[in-house]
Amino acid sequence: MIWRHKLSLSCGKDPSNQDTMMTEQITMQAPPSSRLVCAFGKACSSRKGGKEQGPDLCSWCKNMSLFELYRLADGLGREDHEAVRKLVDAYKKHLEDDLLERLRHKGWLMPCAIKDPYVRHMQWRDSFNPQDDKPCNNVVHRGQLCQRCYTKAREQECTWLKVEFDGDRYGFPCVFEDPRMHRPKDYFWRRGPGEDPDWEKDSRRGHAPCGRCEQRYKLCQNCYARINEMRGFGKFFDETHGILRMRYRGRDTGG
Ligand SMILES: [Zn+2]
Ligand SMILES: [Zn+2]
Ligand SMILES: [Zn+2]
Repeated sequence: MIWRHKLSLSCGKDPSNQDTMMTEQITMQAPPSSRLVCAFGKACSSRKGGKEQGPDLCSWCKNMSLFELYRLADGLGREDHEAVRKLVDAYKKHLEDDLLERLRHKGWLMPCAIKDPYVRHMQWRDSFNPQDDKPCNNVVHRGQLCQRCYTKAREQECTWLKVEFDGDRYGFPCVFEDPRMHRPKDYFWRRGPGEDPDWEKDSRRGHAPCGRCEQRYKLCQNCYARINEMRGFGKFFDETHGILRMRYRGRDTGG
């Protein structure tokens, strides 16, 4: 797989002499002060007084939300405003292309949730600034935070992390897929009234794969569509939203 190949290259595992020479060459060619310059110049929030004006967004700014970058660009003087907006446009395009490329290839890693351009309208994303200039790492699941962002969000005690995320992942698993919901007492709701073998989600029976949910204890859309008209549904789940009734959740729901 190509990403593995790329990964091992960037890890620099067992580099030949030639590789080392190439790395040195690249390091020497890069402008030595690239970390001290930013297209936002004085308006760059990475340090007091900003940075020296440079040709591109700095890595600190690239971790900020796209909306915030556009807002910052709009606050610049007339001369810089257009040029910096174009840089943000180009960065947004780059994030979109990167994501689409990764979605096209099965097994490729995904960008960190904050680098997913399609969540830019979400409030959590707009409000979050990791306040760090290291780039994100890629992750296994779409909607997952990289280790750095997860750590920063916990340090900043972000409310959205507690409400909208399950650990480092946006959203929650379908209640049928929740690894915390395989206790002996879960047998009752998993089996339901026991009349229809298609009640419990089972991919071997051709059931559609589960999606993520915006809250815990909920059926994903596919499972909801499969069982919501079966007899006895309302005994176990709230009919409108497909949320498991309180009495079946139990107290022992941690980790
Ligand atoms: Zn910057
Ligand atoms: Zn990240
Ligand atoms: Zn499901």
